[in-house]
Amino acid sequence: MQTLELRGVNKSFGSLQVLKDINLTIGKGEFAAIVGPSGCGKSTALRMFAGLEFPSEGEALADGESITKPAPNRMLIFQEHALYPWSTVEDNVGLGLELAGIGKAERRERINAVLEKVNLSGFNKYYPSQLSGGMRQRVAIARALIMDPDVLLLDEPYGALDAMTRLTMQNELLRLWQGTGKTMLLITHDIDEALYLADKVYVMSARPGQVVRTIDLAMPRPRNRNGEEFAAHRR
Ligand code: ADP
Ligand code: MG
Repeated sequence: MQTLELRGVNKSFGSLQVLKDINLTIGKGEFAAIVGPSGCGKSTALRMFAGLEFPSEGEALADGESITKPAPNRMLIFQEHALYPWSTVEDNVGLGLELAGIGKAERRERINAVLEKVNLSGFNKYYPSQLSGGMRQRVAIARALIMDPDVLLLDEPYGALDAMTRLTMQNELLRLWQGTGKTMLLITHDIDEALYLADKVYVMSARPGQVVRTIDLAMPRPRNRNGEEFAAHRR
């Protein structure tokens, strides 16, 4: 789990055609990026994997199954309006577990574990307004990670951050990916970011969005003496 695929996808909103004949496959554990100009349909494509948008024609698939609704195994992380301002960090992060009926003690344990993973240990009682932009984005990532999804869907998560913070966050994201083997799909209008982070970059044209180029950056993965792949394999 989980392979993602768009197969022959067209998408129109009324008379506006946004996506045109999109075909792409993201393998399990791969870090892929979709890059293209603003308005070309990147978020629309990503939202199909989150189960929030549906093709007009063609199919959006996860592990070969048509995606019909949101699932905690495929978590969407986006930049704007990501956190509840009236809730503390721990309440924002723990909300998904609470909704899933998980008790307070286990919640606290998992919240602390995931805050440590995103370098926010000890910030449980802070409110979003008391945090920097980078820290708020880490909270949004923690909120998705706590559900232990196989897939992280990232919609321009670092767009609003200053250059230094962005670089720090990008490196943290790479470490997270290497440490967990999750399937990552990042949307960005920044080709440098896409090339830095991803194994595979899908380049889209302006509306209607079409994949005009696929750049494969994956290195051959190192193997042990038995010919098995190492889990963490890059950088
Ligand atoms: P990107 O993320 O690449 O900037 P989007 O996928 O957000 O592009 O949007 C692509 C186009 O589709 C835009 O012109 C946008 O206005 C339009 N669009 C997106 N969602 C909707 C919607 N729910 N209803 C109508 N038009 C939409
Ligand atoms: Mg977008």
